[in-house]
Amino acid sequence: MIHQQTQKQIAVIGGGVMGICGAYFLAQAGHQVAVIEQRSNVAEESTLGNSGILSAGSALPWSAPGMRKAILSGMFNQESPNVLNARFSPALWCWMRRWMAESEVQRFRLHTHQMQRLASYSQDLLQQIEQHFQIDFEQSRGLLRLCRNDEELAALDPARELLSECGVSHRLLDSSAARALEPALANAGNVAGALYFPDIGAGNCTLFTKQLKAILQGLGVHFHFNSNVSAIAPHGSRVALQIDGQQLSADAVVCATGSASAKLLKPLGLRLPLHAIKTYTATASVKNYEDAPKLAVLDSSYKVSMARIGSRLRLAGVAEFGAKNMDIDDKALRTLLKVAHDWFPDAANFNSASFWCGHTPMLADEVPLIGHTGVNNVFVNIAHGGSGWSMALGASKLLADQISGLPSEVDLDGLTMARYG
Ligand SMILES: Cc1cc2nc3c(=O)[nH]c(=O)nc-3n(C[C@H](O)[C@H](O)[C@H](O)COP(=O)(O)OP(=O)(O)OC[C@H]3O[C@@H](n4cnc5c(N)ncnc54)[C@H](O)[C@@H]3O)c2cc1C
Repeated sequence: MIHQQTQKQIAVIGGGVMGICGAYFLAQAGHQVAVIEQRSNVAEESTLGNSGILSAGSALPWSAPGMRKAILSGMFNQESPNVLNARFSPALWCWMRRWMAESEVQRFRLHTHQMQRLASYSQDLLQQIEQHFQIDFEQSRGLLRLCRNDEELAALDPARELLSECGVSHRLLDSSAARALEPALANAGNVAGALYFPDIGAGNCTLFTKQLKAILQGLGVHFHFNSNVSAIAPHGSRVALQIDGQQLSADAVVCATGSASAKLLKPLGLRLPLHAIKTYTATASVKNYEDAPKLAVLDSSYKVSMARIGSRLRLAGVAEFGAKNMDIDDKALRTLLKVAHDWFPDAANFNSASFWCGHTPMLADEVPLIGHTGVNNVFVNIAHGGSGWSMALGASKLLADQISGLPSEVDLDGLTMARYG
């Protein structure tokens, strides 16, 4: 159904999950859409290594109260949820101070509400798309947040209160109830208890993005692969793009450029406090199906998630600050493998796991930035941190509605450029 009056030509830069979801809602609204991607296909960067956890409940900011202490103590451990890179720069230190200031209780509460709102809206949209197109992207339901000791369980109390406030359904389980719900925990070490989220799911983000690309092709969206946008410049009432020595112009441009966004937007005078945090995955083939978890799992101590992706098990986690390269850090790998061996030692061939890392761009408040930039007809959908898959459809629909001049279906407060004055 065409909702809007004026059809626009819109260039979406970036073929990750955000660009593809944005292109979908824009095409549905009747616009002429072209996706411009520097790689040879969609879902080749952050979207590729995604661990798949998908739901409102996973969308909690990392900067929880107590995070500063956790980062410092992690520096001295063999395994840790965080790695501070040796090439720590003054700019990064400045960013981290801003980020840590956001872990103050009231700020954390506010950001949690904003992210949950977006993630829950996304979940509704995902269900609609899933049902409408009958797509299969290896979805599963249910997530267990596992705790190793009573102290960790007790520490979940404030988060539980906040999750209830946000309407995220969850249940506290003791050790035997957790093992009964996830029989693959039979060979696990200490399970003090778990928080069970029945509505949290997981799904293969890459597969979803590729299926949506096929749907977009059916809707007449054009794809320009191997095309790098080197500059964006407002040009009268339109916007001009430099693409490998050629110029293309459009009525509006959407930057869904992930960790490349800061560099691309800087010449437009947009200096955003964006920092790309490096995170890791380990993917291993399932060896014993009865020993592999059916539910998605999150380790409370190390903040490592685990989910089945078809016949593979994917672990993801460890936030590395200050790394620009794609080198694999030993401490990060040790952490992922420790978590795998602690909970599901016989599930998969962990010793032959393949490792990957990617950068997740984040603003200091960890809340995404969606909508108009203040520069004529230039829009963004960026900075989703570690929960971009969970928020992709909601963020993209809000963006498309703004471009089409339609009212937003959820409150945009705190998600737009307005928060920078
Ligand atoms: C290891 C890891 C695990 C994760 N796990 C989860 C999870 O379990 N749940 C969850 O909700 N989220 C998770 N995330 C976060 C989520 O994957 C990201 O937020 C999401 O993929 C971001 O999508 P994107 O489209 O913004 O970025 P990307 O996928 O990085 O896409 C950006 C695209 O823009 C293109 N591009 C950039 N610059 C240009 C240019 N100048 N010209 C043309 N093209 C350009 C790039 O090539 C790229 O394809 C995880 C992230 C990582 C790294």
